[in-house]
Amino acid sequence: MCEKVDVKSMDKADIKSMNLEELTVFVTGTLKEPKFRAAQLYQWLHVKLARSFDEMTSLSKALREKLDTCAVLTALETVECLVSKIDGTRKYLFRLPDGNIIESVLMKYKHGNSVCVSSQVGCRMGCRFCASTLDGLERSMTPSEMLDEVYAIQRDLGERISNVVIMGSGEPLDNYDNVVRFIKLLSDENGLHISQRNITLSTCGIVPKIYALAEEKLQVTLAISLHAVSDEQRRTLMPIANKYSIREILEACKAYYSHNNRRLTFEYSLVAGVNDSPEQARALAGLLKGLNAHVNLIPVNPIKERDFRQSDNSAVNNFKNSLEKYGENVTIRREMGRDIQAACGQLRKNYLNRQV
Ligand code: SAH
Repeated sequence: MCEKVDVKSMDKADIKSMNLEELTVFVTGTLKEPKFRAAQLYQWLHVKLARSFDEMTSLSKALREKLDTCAVLTALETVECLVSKIDGTRKYLFRLPDGNIIESVLMKYKHGNSVCVSSQVGCRMGCRFCASTLDGLERSMTPSEMLDEVYAIQRDLGERISNVVIMGSGEPLDNYDNVVRFIKLLSDENGLHISQRNITLSTCGIVPKIYALAEEKLQVTLAISLHAVSDEQRRTLMPIANKYSIREILEACKAYYSHNNRRLTFEYSLVAGVNDSPEQARALAGLLKGLNAHVNLIPVNPIKERDFRQSDNSAVNNFKNSLEKYGENVTIRREMGRDIQAACGQLRKNYLNRQV
């Protein structure tokens, strides 16, 4: 069967997106190899983080050649890597197998190394303050491409990645199946085995998909990009608010919480004079009352295509203090890698602009 595969066709098996069971079917069925080869191959892919079949020295040359004919090994190519002199943050520009460019970020914390992954090339959600969405959606990413954002960085860094946040370009719940598969592979005990509790999925709030995610019974932290306290105001910042109300989102969050008891995160980007007043802090506390919630305040990162201004330090601190007064758990997102590009998606956008 394998001999009939057209080497130039796009139909070669994407083996890095397969779980061990599927890989076993591929190895024993398509490749006609013994079952233990599947476990070896899986280990090369997901533990030893091999980037070519040639590296897989415990497999015979003949098998490596067969794999080369029948399968693709998705490995991202690093186009650029900027390292912050301030805090060691690294911003990577990767080239996907089809030539598209995406951005991933490594953040070094006391508690470990965290990677922020992109889930789509571009985005179609249209949030007004976000650079990733300016040119719309190019395409969704495959599980193997998302995995390799983490693998390529772990290899490059030479240190274990302990946390992953799906907060880069793209809306993960607009690429639902691939993202769920990515999470399962990333946390698989036979792979890199990153605890699901150390994985955060950030969404603008696609309500039916939040309910679906709850049913997956994952231990992943759900982060909701709220950014406003009324639907009216949210609609001016995020087109998705025309489809789902804050009330509907919070109901879905409760359903998610009831499945795994994971504290919910609410992201709130502070825009000067728009959503950063003490009254709005009070309203936010009111909305979150009774939820086991954590609020992550993000002083908005201005992008040149829009004229949003960042709230000043005192407004940010006042907002935080007000929320705390109402008993909310709040952190301010520390700006990382200040010296190596600003807002999410801007590195990629600057790179693409330089190419034309
Ligand atoms: N689509 C996902 C992931 C987006 S990026 C989501 O909507 O959650 C992760 C977070 O950064 C989101 O809360 C997003 O709203 C926020 N964000 C995007 N651009 C920003 C900017 N320029 N300044 C501040 N926060 C921004």
